Amino acid sequence: MIYSIHSSLSSVLVSKMKIGWMDTHAHVMDASLLLQIDDVIKRCIENDVVSVTLICMSIEEIELGIRLQSKYPMLELFGGFHPVDITNDSIENYQKLEEFIINGKIVGIGEIGLDFYWDKQYRDAQIVAFRRQCELAIKHDVPINIHMRDATQEVYDIISSYKGQLRGVMHCYSGSVEMAKAFIKQGFLISLGGILTFKNAKSVIEVAEEIDLEHLLIETDSPYLTPHPYRGKLNEPSYVALVGEKLASIKNMEHFTIQTQMQKNYKRLFK
Ligand SMILES: [Zn+2]
Repeated sequence: MIYSIHSSLSSVLVSKMKIGWMDTHAHVMDASLLLQIDDVIKRCIENDVVSVTLICMSIEEIELGIRLQSKYPMLELFGGFHPVDITNDSIENYQKLEEFIINGKIVGIGEIGLDFYWDKQYRDAQIVAFRRQCELAIKHDVPINIHMRDATQEVYDIISSYKGQLRGVMHCYSGSVEMAKAFIKQGFLISLGGILTFKNAKSVIEVAEEIDLEHLLIETDSPYLTPHPYRGKLNEPSYVALVGEKLASIKNMEHFTIQTQMQKNYKRLFK
């Protein structure tokens, strides 16, 4: 048993959690991982991963996540309507999303944001859905997890329009150091994924070098973006240890120092 108590409140969990790696962004509801979930969790424990944040992208995924969490207390849930799949953001589903927040079933909203790479057609609808979910986060004082692709300035403009009322995570960040600093000023943590371990990941490595540890998180975004040396294979939450080890070598710090600071940073999201 990893935790001495079981609660869906992150702040409680983190304070009771043993020191280890945290995967702050994973999609284990993907069939490729869900079908072997017992083994996925077992490998997390074997690799010193103490917490995995499931990113649920529909009401159905949140409901499934809640069932998984009752079996594996190391899981916690974010839920929201992803920018490339906002067709399910009906008024009824927004009400359900809000109920999950009120009942403490999800601890944050995400991933949400803008994606003008995969989806140019629904640009305006993406902006409406993103703003609506930002306002829900402000109303209930919960963090958001942001997906951003080919839309850095647009995401920044929306976040900054709320004048410091938002906080959250820039997931799988691959932008410039300068923009990372701008997002940090808006109350956001910069989360680095498997790309950090790639040989050609010049800009992400630069972000890891330049940004202070207190503003960083690590994640897998599994089953996508598998870190080296498993690149090309299925990604899973236990591989967050590889991202953490790479960050430790870039920062020239002990694993324990990285793990402790990542847990403190994550805890800060929940005040
Ligand atoms: Zn994701």
